[in-house]
Amino acid sequence: MKNPTAGPEARVLTPAERADDERMLAKCRVLGAVRWRRCPQCAARAYSPCQVRPRADCLARWLAAYKAGKITRADLIGAISGLVVITAAQLVEERAA
Ligand SMILES: [Zn+2]
Repeated sequence: MKNPTAGPEARVLTPAERADDERMLAKCRVLGAVRWRRCPQCAARAYSPCQVRPRADCLARWLAAYKAGKITRADLIGAISGLVVITAAQLVEERAA
């Protein structure tokens, strides 16, 4: 459906683009929920990742977010499933989230 007030390049998202958008927004929602408080493990500030490059957060932060009801069990499982070592200080890379 075209928007009559938009320019000639304006168009709506394709289903694939919309799905990509939804995935990106879901990832942003989860990461925002995980980083909503200071990290209990390394004291990274709220809304800052525990590690900058590559961006990652301590597993302790994921566990705290789950305990606080900020993320779902599925979100937590998704983060843990890529880990080999399970400790509170273990970093969960952003791309695995
Ligand atoms: Zn941390």
